[in-house]
Amino acid sequence: MTVWDAVVGQTVVPGLQRTVADAAAYLDGGRLGSMTHAWLFTGPPGSGRSVVARAFAAALQCPQGGCGTCSSCVEVRAGTHPDVANLVTEGLNIRIGQVRDLVPRAALRPARGRWQIVVVEDADRLGEDAADALLLSVEEPPERTVWMLCAPTAEDIVPTIRSRCRVTQLRTPPYADVARYLAESEGVDVATAEFAARASQGHVGRARALATDDDVRQRRAEVLRLPFNLADLRQCLDAAATLVDTAKADAERHCDALDEREVEELRKALGAGSTGRKPRSMEGAVKELEREQKLRRTRVQRDSIDRALVDVLALYRDVLMLQLGVRTELVNEDIRPSVDRLARSGRAEATLRRMEAVMAAREALQANAAPLLTLEAMALTLREG
Ligand SMILES: [Zn+2]
Repeated sequence: MTVWDAVVGQTVVPGLQRTVADAAAYLDGGRLGSMTHAWLFTGPPGSGRSVVARAFAAALQCPQGGCGTCSSCVEVRAGTHPDVANLVTEGLNIRIGQVRDLVPRAALRPARGRWQIVVVEDADRLGEDAADALLLSVEEPPERTVWMLCAPTAEDIVPTIRSRCRVTQLRTPPYADVARYLAESEGVDVATAEFAARASQGHVGRARALATDDDVRQRRAEVLRLPFNLADLRQCLDAAATLVDTAKADAERHCDALDEREVEELRKALGAGSTGRKPRSMEGAVKELEREQKLRRTRVQRDSIDRALVDVLALYRDVLMLQLGVRTELVNEDIRPSVDRLARSGRAEATLRRMEAVMAAREALQANAAPLLTLEAMALTLREG
């Protein structure tokens, strides 16, 4: 077992391992070689950007280059290594205060004598002022400091910071790699692992949820019934409403407890004593937090709907493959007979139009269109074909 075992289907690993060797040689008085002070890991959602960054961080800190078992490797994995800081955010944006706390830490000499590493997950959520606060440290880092930023694409990072980073691009991991990983790490049977890997379309976190969580599988199955249930107007409107309701339930599951905890913590931080006397600034701060929480809830709902639409899109892609007579493995191999029935009931041109309708709905939702109206319009278009 090594720290790289958690990385699924990425071809960049051998290159990073060479860098780890160069970095170790540098610590022994050699040259930097391929080692550098600022890294940007990019890749589609679910490809494992932060997983790669953490594995790389662990490998750099490990005297054996990432054995996976020594105390250093264990500490990095547990998030307790004194020389590896993780900046994660549940919010819409990384707060400038979070960055200001980090910068002095990044300037420290490593307590264990190797590297001082700061991992910024979701670096695309750095606002302009937060990015400014980070810039100097990324531009001129102390000799042993390493920044690792993660973002969907390099363009998500302000150019001043991006230009300082070595960009390492991850890919959507191949199904076979995801399936093998699930079977080994989650202990699920081969059939379940293969189903989850295909159905997730290479999103490792989603694949894990599909492989291990009945509710997630259930919700996906409901979504996939949608294209089969568009016979009349009523059904179309119901289908749209179901998608929105499911997304709301997702958001409740994700946000309710989190929101409450954050307000609680803020009140504590602002010193609401047991006497219940409220400092004047408290109400404003709580309002501001609640505004951000509302935005987050909206985003979680939108992400949930988008995931459902990606599933619907994959179903129509399967239908199209069958209609065109392309011999290929389907994303929805597990329901091939139903997909085949749908394929034989229509023509490829209509399927293409339906796929366009789903893509148009995704775009509209990303541009903040009202979810229910957008999905109703989509369902009606799907019915017309
Ligand atoms: Zn180790």
